[in-house]
Amino acid sequence: MQLIRKHARVDSASAPATVAGMNRRSFLKRSGLAAGGIAAIGTLPGGMMRRANAQEAPQAKDAKVETKHTICTHCAVGCAVIAKVQNGVWIEQEPDFDSPINLGAHCAKGAALREHGQGDKRIKYPMKLVDGKWKRLSWDQAINEIGDKLLKIREESGPDALFYGGSSKGSDESSYLQRKWVSFWGTNNCDHQARICHSTTVAGVANTWGYGAMTNSFNDLHRSKCMFFIGSNAAEAHPVAMQHILRAKENGSKMIVCDPRRTRTAAHADQYIRFRPGTDVALIWGILWHIFENGWEDKEYIRQRVYGMDEVRKVVAKYTPDEVEKITGTPKDELYQAAKTMNENRPGSIIWCMGATHHHIGNNNTRAYCILQLALGNVGKPGGGANIFRGHDNVQGATDIGPQSQSLPGYYGLSEGAWRHWARVWDVPYDWFVKRFDQTKKYPDSTAPDGVAYTMNQPGFPISRWMDAVLEDPANLSQRTNVRAVLFQGHAVNSQTRGPDIKKALEKIDLLVISDPYPTHMAVMSDRKGDTYLLPNATQLETSGSAVASNRAMQWREQVIEPLFESKPDTEVMYLLAKKLGFADELFKHIEIKGGVPVAEDILREINRGAWSVGYSGQSPERLKLQMANRRTFNTTTLRAEGGPCDGEYYGLPWPCWGSPDMEQTWPDGKVRKGHPGTHILYREDIPVVMGGLCFRARFGTERDGVNLLAEDSWVKGSEIKDGYPEFTYGMLRKLGWDKDLTDTETASIRSVAASDSDSATVDDPKKLDGVNWKTDLSGGIQRVAIKHGCAPFGNAKARCVVWTFPDPVPIHREPIYTPRPDLLPAYRTYDDITAVYRLPTRFWSIQKDDHATKYPLIYSSGRLVEYEGGGAETRSNRWLAELQQQMFVEINPADANDRGLSDQQWVWLEGAEGARIKIRTMVTERVGRGVVWCPFHFGGWFEGKDLLDKYPEGTAPYVRGESSNTAATYGYDIVTQMQEGTKATLCQITAA
Ligand code: SF4
Repeated sequence: MQLIRKHARVDSASAPATVAGMNRRSFLKRSGLAAGGIAAIGTLPGGMMRRANAQEAPQAKDAKVETKHTICTHCAVGCAVIAKVQNGVWIEQEPDFDSPINLGAHCAKGAALREHGQGDKRIKYPMKLVDGKWKRLSWDQAINEIGDKLLKIREESGPDALFYGGSSKGSDESSYLQRKWVSFWGTNNCDHQARICHSTTVAGVANTWGYGAMTNSFNDLHRSKCMFFIGSNAAEAHPVAMQHILRAKENGSKMIVCDPRRTRTAAHADQYIRFRPGTDVALIWGILWHIFENGWEDKEYIRQRVYGMDEVRKVVAKYTPDEVEKITGTPKDELYQAAKTMNENRPGSIIWCMGATHHHIGNNNTRAYCILQLALGNVGKPGGGANIFRGHDNVQGATDIGPQSQSLPGYYGLSEGAWRHWARVWDVPYDWFVKRFDQTKKYPDSTAPDGVAYTMNQPGFPISRWMDAVLEDPANLSQRTNVRAVLFQGHAVNSQTRGPDIKKALEKIDLLVISDPYPTHMAVMSDRKGDTYLLPNATQLETSGSAVASNRAMQWREQVIEPLFESKPDTEVMYLLAKKLGFADELFKHIEIKGGVPVAEDILREINRGAWSVGYSGQSPERLKLQMANRRTFNTTTLRAEGGPCDGEYYGLPWPCWGSPDMEQTWPDGKVRKGHPGTHILYREDIPVVMGGLCFRARFGTERDGVNLLAEDSWVKGSEIKDGYPEFTYGMLRKLGWDKDLTDTETASIRSVAASDSDSATVDDPKKLDGVNWKTDLSGGIQRVAIKHGCAPFGNAKARCVVWTFPDPVPIHREPIYTPRPDLLPAYRTYDDITAVYRLPTRFWSIQKDDHATKYPLIYSSGRLVEYEGGGAETRSNRWLAELQQQMFVEINPADANDRGLSDQQWVWLEGAEGARIKIRTMVTERVGRGVVWCPFHFGGWFEGKDLLDKYPEGTAPYVRGESSNTAATYGYDIVTQMQEGTKATLCQITAA
């Protein structure tokens, strides 16, 4: 596979120079990779992988070389890396052949990881803007100044005047601490990249069958009979996943790729289906129409395990082959062929990414994919499931337990019960938190008699719209004031749409703090002159902690080197700020501070003690480290350890990893094992829960309109309850007589939870006692006893195809907000505008009703390149990666280029439908269909035609700069989650520059 594009030539103005006696060739040798193989190795099938004969780096005589094990920081595949360190200097790296995930493979980004740990473009010391110029200052001075300004803003405008943008790239411990930090500050205005990555997946999938994450794994694809990709370009976005995909192909799996663009992944497909961006539901219903028409659905599976398929059937009947062709532009025969292939090759897996989620009906899309899999009976089976590939290296962990504006860690939500649960875990009185938060009469859903509500129970602003929190008329906000201070720690703002509005917001706020290893696009895109701070953060390679790969598997990273320059771990930055702001004692009550840095192991133990709801309770630091040391003992397809100290466990203890780390259970082989093994495949009923089996979660009640929502004639192997059942509570244990299996200590703990669950409850309040459940029992006893009897702690229910709490209970197609097909609006228009969601008004029809397509006739979409990651500040500052991809470009079909008199590599203006313009070069290619253009989204450092080089602190400008595609991307947000749409389906025009 040729991964270096025709534009990837070195631009002499920004060419990476040979440095420190090492040129690119010697770098590649030291990385254990031959030149030219660096990028392609990530896509070789497992059988073709060879251990390279790396040239040893020269070493000082008798110098001690340490070996460190870490995980690549650039995507959620989770490839392991071996680093050699001599005298504190990282001298060599090798891909890890013992890792069951990457099996010795790396893509270009992983192979260039060492450079990330050298980082000469890093922020080297704290800085602030003074009269538009960056000035150095000490950490003490920076923390004092930032703290004083934050306290003043809090005094004047309340705690909700702060927005904290957290990271999807920090460790679990860092992400969790970010959510905890804002909770102690007194706001829910925090969020991270998952909002604009997979929030529509989490909402759609969790509301279908219980948990909102990837159900199987990359490795499990080896067992698929059919892989159906939609909106996923794994060859570039998840390169090492391709070795598992190609192994599945070698095993005989069919491969169908649906994408508006003929991607490098599509090049491997048995069938490629091109369709119009934003028409996923119609496409999926078009396939399901053929499945129903031919009776190919799994009727028994649906009877036992699925609710609401008949309502789906009624909706799908309207999506006839002709209607679907009209909406999607896909010839109808192609969908029949896809349906037939999926019918004949089960179990099959569906794989989706951000091409699927970035739509204002993204939650409809993700639910439609789930329903397709449920109709085929593909969920809960090896080789089946929904393999939802995540983006950043710890975006899954940060989603589960990190900064989310609508929930405390572990998806507990923001109700009083949720706050009381975490107050118990944190060992701080519930009332202490209440006093930290603001009150408002502006919360529209308030049920309080006087209309006053605490903002602690309302979702905060989402990261997709933090700029609206600054710019919106305060009369329209569900909180007291606009946001006045913004703290971003490990987040790239150029991943958000509406660049000009972001610039405006940046110029309006009173305080901007960017805490990051590199100066991001945010540091240079505005014309701010002061009150702006850059704090140098250590990278993941300079800290230790756990990260969760896309398949819910946790891996422990060892610290490779000490923090470079004056950088500090983000957890230390949070500690310093908390000390200055006066809540460090409460925040770190049970977390040791060693040498000024919070101890990662202590933080993970606290997560274990609190995040029962998602099964983050069993992965102690000790268990994770033991697995890393014995990773070669895991089978590369089943991911189960075969013998050795981790015998029977799944690699990474993928959540849910039930109970406490030392929970003892007897397995069917008669052995007593300590700790749950993790759950490799969600909802798999053919093995007992104690070995990683599971059913669908009972999350939506037990009955609706007289119809049973619990599973029927279906249960996990070994269950003593041979039918569906609700989630486990103390009361349920009592009714079953299983409360006697609790130890005295567990019972006492449950009573103490009941006693602290409201101000008026007493230890003996039977209602409260019976209500303590598998999520709130801090002893883990309820989970332990349920599993002892073969049951899933979260109950056994049907998955649901009808989400009656969502605007479209059964998914339907709605045209993108900026539609190229106004003729379809009478049948497929969007929603009416909403006055308040996530504290903000949100526009739908008021935009869509106007014709935008006449002036902006091209569909504008964007996506990933293999060389770069996210907003790109790190990877474009990496000299080896920068060499591979030098410039921002737009892919345009030859016919569209000819219509505009444009040639290949010509400078053009791309103008988005809201008028913002970016200056880029053309790549004329048939990869995109006529009427569609596509840009990579990793660039930054330019704004509307201007290179911002002179705005970077000296020596920190990335090697490669370019326009951010999102500068020209437009308004449009998912109605449930506030996911942005402008990145995948909006409109533009292109003219010669
Ligand atoms: Fe592996 Fe992803 Fe890193 Fe590439 S970027 S080496 S696929 S973890």
